Amino acid sequence: MTWNPTTGCTKISAGCKYCYAEVMSRRLHAMGIEKYRDGFEVRMHNDAVDIPYTWKGSKIVFVNSMSDLFHPLVSLEFIKKVFAVMNDTPQHTYQVLTKRADRLFELHEQLLWTSNIWMGVSVEDARVTGRIDFLRQTNAQTKFLSCEPLIGPLLNMNLQNINWVITGGESGRKARPMQEWWVWDIRQQCAEQGVAFFFKQWGGINKKKAGRELGGRTYDEMPSL
Ligand code: SF4
Repeated sequence: MTWNPTTGCTKISAGCKYCYAEVMSRRLHAMGIEKYRDGFEVRMHNDAVDIPYTWKGSKIVFVNSMSDLFHPLVSLEFIKKVFAVMNDTPQHTYQVLTKRADRLFELHEQLLWTSNIWMGVSVEDARVTGRIDFLRQTNAQTKFLSCEPLIGPLLNMNLQNINWVITGGESGRKARPMQEWWVWDIRQQCAEQGVAFFFKQWGGINKKKAGRELGGRTYDEMPSL
């Protein structure tokens, strides 16, 4: 499931170059969808905050696939509202991913980190590994890295207190290539530091064909809670 209490964003690092959320927002705007009337401008949607209460059973939820919850234009008050709903619906597991790890760190003590909230930062190349240090210091109970789209090697990461690493290549017509040894190196670091490793895809122009096998097998490890 995806849940988008906020929409819109601004680009902050190289991983944003072919932002899927931007393309989708513009498409939905062109289709006249009310929620996207302001295109990719940052917007908080009060009417979307309570949506998780309507879901039956227990869901795994990607929060803000169309935005970044910790964008500076999203108010602390609104972030707290989103957290209150996550705190109040423990039957669902929420995966929150940000590139604004500094703001996450700045605000984390004002938020309640129930165990159903998995907090992640994007780490697409070595220029942004500082995000891992911010994440590590937060009170989130489950912490993960999304090394996707992987556009450079990530050597010698400190994975202390990190529970899960997802990696994958960029897809699409202009996808930046991912080298195989970058993925093996991350896999090795995870194995050495006892971190669950998930390999999502090779990506490229035809991501279906490229598949998601690494050395003849798939890697679908999940954090043990
Ligand atoms: S932070 Fe995420 S949503 Fe925002 S521009 Fe970058 S890739 Fe897109």
